[in-house]
Amino acid sequence: MIVSIDKSAGFCWGVVRAIDFAENELQSVSKVYCLGDIIHNTTEVKRLNELGLETVSVNDFPNLERGSKILIRAHGEPPETYAKARQFGLEIIDATCPIVTRVQERVRKFVDQDYQVVIYGKKDHAEVIGINGVTGYTAIVVKNVEDALEKVDFKKPTVLFTQTTMDKRDFKELAEALKQRCEELVVGSIEETAVQFHAKDTICGQVSGRERKLQQFASENDIIVFTAGRKSSNGKVLHDIAKAANQRTYFAETIDEIDWSWFEGVEKVGISGATSTPHWVMQQFKEVIENKFNSLVTA
Ligand code: SF4
Repeated sequence: MIVSIDKSAGFCWGVVRAIDFAENELQSVSKVYCLGDIIHNTTEVKRLNELGLETVSVNDFPNLERGSKILIRAHGEPPETYAKARQFGLEIIDATCPIVTRVQERVRKFVDQDYQVVIYGKKDHAEVIGINGVTGYTAIVVKNVEDALEKVDFKKPTVLFTQTTMDKRDFKELAEALKQRCEELVVGSIEETAVQFHAKDTICGQVSGRERKLQQFASENDIIVFTAGRKSSNGKVLHDIAKAANQRTYFAETIDEIDWSWFEGVEKVGISGATSTPHWVMQQFKEVIENKFNSLVTA
């Protein structure tokens, strides 16, 4: 059996940067508080927790010692989080992904011009909450075309943004549907960072750029074991892309979730993951699978 890891899988640079911030801080202090899990991956959260990174929420601020360090993860936060941290004398380590910061800045410009802001994304996702916070929670968050057609006022000048990790095709479909109905529709983008972004939306190239490579990787293997945190948005998107290219794609957040019946008659196994899946986790999956089948051969 050949087990290989998808070369295009692993942390996006926004997440690598946030983890670097945490590890650097933990070299000089024994405790750093992170607002929400630094990454949607329980194994990596546990590793950082052992180094001194503790997950907290804004509600915990009153109980933290003044001067404590609060890390804002790559998803970003709404403006009131910064104000509340100042109120309780906490020091902010801002690891918001620069791409997310740029989206927030662009949204703010449209709010100042009285546009109706529509965000395509998940209303409870931290990145969407942060972006919506910039609008004073006046944005319309939509999950699909039907939802948008019900909630959007077509007569108002409208700008459509998207959570950075949504599916590109679904976003295009939504933009088309609104274009046909809105008197004025702008599709929000941040061309200034075109290296990471496709010019006409705010879907991160770290996610959409992987689609073609993942499809190819999925079709080259007999089965795909896809590992990511269950809370990871791009994990869900990327898993579905792999599944569409290879029906024998299986999801496992941790090694214990591997079902050995998946491997019946299989010669080539591909391991892939989300932008929040550490490379060392995929390596562990590879080793466990290889050991299982090697031991069967030698037994
Ligand atoms: S997926 Fe893209 S936008 Fe999101 S944290 Fe990673 S690099 Fe930044």
